[in-house]
Amino acid sequence: MSEHEHANNSEDAAVSDLKDESAGIGETSGHPVAGERPEQVFEYARAPESRSVVHLRSSYGLFIDGAFVEPVDAKSYKTENPATEEVLAEIAAAGVEDVDRAVQAAGRAQKMVWGPMPGAERAKYLFRIARIMQERSRELAVLESLDNGKPIRESRDVDVPLAAAHFFYYAGWADKLDYAGFGPNPAPIGVAGQVIPWNFPLMMAAWKLAPALAAGNTCVLKPASTTPLSALLLAEIIQQADLPPGVVNVITGAGSLAGAALVAHPGVDKVAFTGSTEVGKDLQRALAGTGKHLTLELGGKAANIVFEDAPLDQAIEGIVNGIFFNQGEVCCAGSRLLVQESIADIVVERLKRRLATLRVGDPLDKNTDLGAINNPAQLDKIRELAAAGEAEGAIRWSPSCTLPSKGYWFAPTVFTNVSPAHRIAQEEIFGPVLSVLTFRTPEEAVAKANNTVYGLSAGVWTEKGSRILWMAGQLRAGVVWANSFNRFDPTSPFGGYRESGFGREGGRQGLGAYLDV
Ligand code: NAP
Ligand code: MG
Repeated sequence: MSEHEHANNSEDAAVSDLKDESAGIGETSGHPVAGERPEQVFEYARAPESRSVVHLRSSYGLFIDGAFVEPVDAKSYKTENPATEEVLAEIAAAGVEDVDRAVQAAGRAQKMVWGPMPGAERAKYLFRIARIMQERSRELAVLESLDNGKPIRESRDVDVPLAAAHFFYYAGWADKLDYAGFGPNPAPIGVAGQVIPWNFPLMMAAWKLAPALAAGNTCVLKPASTTPLSALLLAEIIQQADLPPGVVNVITGAGSLAGAALVAHPGVDKVAFTGSTEVGKDLQRALAGTGKHLTLELGGKAANIVFEDAPLDQAIEGIVNGIFFNQGEVCCAGSRLLVQESIADIVVERLKRRLATLRVGDPLDKNTDLGAINNPAQLDKIRELAAAGEAEGAIRWSPSCTLPSKGYWFAPTVFTNVSPAHRIAQEEIFGPVLSVLTFRTPEEAVAKANNTVYGLSAGVWTEKGSRILWMAGQLRAGVVWANSFNRFDPTSPFGGYRESGFGREGGRQGLGAYLDV
């Protein structure tokens, strides 16, 4: 969409601020779209966030034993802004020896300092990290949008605050482990090797580090190759918070090399992985018999289920939020809309009208709803699956929108006429593509929703409380949202059934994943 490109009337600033509040896709409870009224179309002035709040260095080292260091063989690669293809910085590429140094440092710190430290002391460090994250939140948000391509409104209002909230929440547990219900004298597992993806780089780092540290483990974190910058800024924050050296180490570099060396390292006692189901399965095979603890958070193909008695205004917003939040690059994205047949036409029509108002473009523009796809390989995958959808006979629709000529972009897309056997109804697309299927009865909705190898999340939209409870019991998914979608809270456990993985992050259960009893 290019409306913000034409509009440079600065008097629009106040109007755009209002719209900013009411039409964001990060929020399902925004102002409802008016019933049969045609959409009101505003013109927006550009409202770019300032890049000057981030101080990009030309190159970044590995964070090992409390200091930023060069990799032993001095290898590096470039990370780029997916919205512009501009190179942001040169990033150290860790080799096997660097991984070994990081794991050794983590092992020493665990035994000598962090493990024996009273929980109340560990809590102070975690609170300090959380507070510095808040102080530097604008910097974190801009960096995240630059490196990942996501809209600044999402980094600012979702990713960064939730990441800080995880540190605050787990700081509160650090001196209460005896009361967490895992039995007497729960002990840390040891050194955690943590591998995270590119879709929520900072938030995934927080989900991994905060509970591990609260429980007395030390960490070696490997961010995704395409999004290392916010984890490196977090390392700087950890330095600023004066954490003892070696408690947190961040190693950047290729998953196939540095990631594989990390999880295989005999000094690693627990592996926590979030990413593709394919790599997750490889890790499970590679770790079989090693005795290492393992938790996996993998892909999904969530159903957003809308009954004819649903509160429709909210449901439309929830469907949009469910699949277009973060460009659909979300493991729990509501990528399948299951809508009751009696209202299918009206829902699809209203959905299309709503999608025509989405603004696709510059991630740093506060008016932007959809940013860039994170990397070219992901864009290829989305294109390939969308083409398969057409080839298999589904009907493809996108609102008219002008995509930027540089960078990696994919227009919001809806497929109707989708059958449950189609690839776009079965495979995780991890992009802004919604597959619409219909059902007649609640039983059919459950059967269709569960007709997948995944089981991460689901949404149910209905006014009937008893139906929500029944559906929640029938759906094989780790999270079921009622009349909402993509809601996260550090107190709630999150994780999958079946090929979506095992283990929970968040809440008391997330703490248990880092404790031996
Ligand atoms: P991926 O390959 O599984 O990457 C996730 C993380 O694992 C990255 O840090 C990656 O490093 C690392 N890694 C890759 N191979 C490894 C190995 N053999 N041993 C240890 N670590 C390894 O995911 P992707 O290639 O970025 O994305 C592919 C698909 O995964 C997406 O299309 C999407 O369907 C799914 N995905 C799911 C989630 C989720 O939250 N569940 C997140 C991201 C992607 P590198 O970045 O260096 O490769
Ligand atoms: Mg990969």
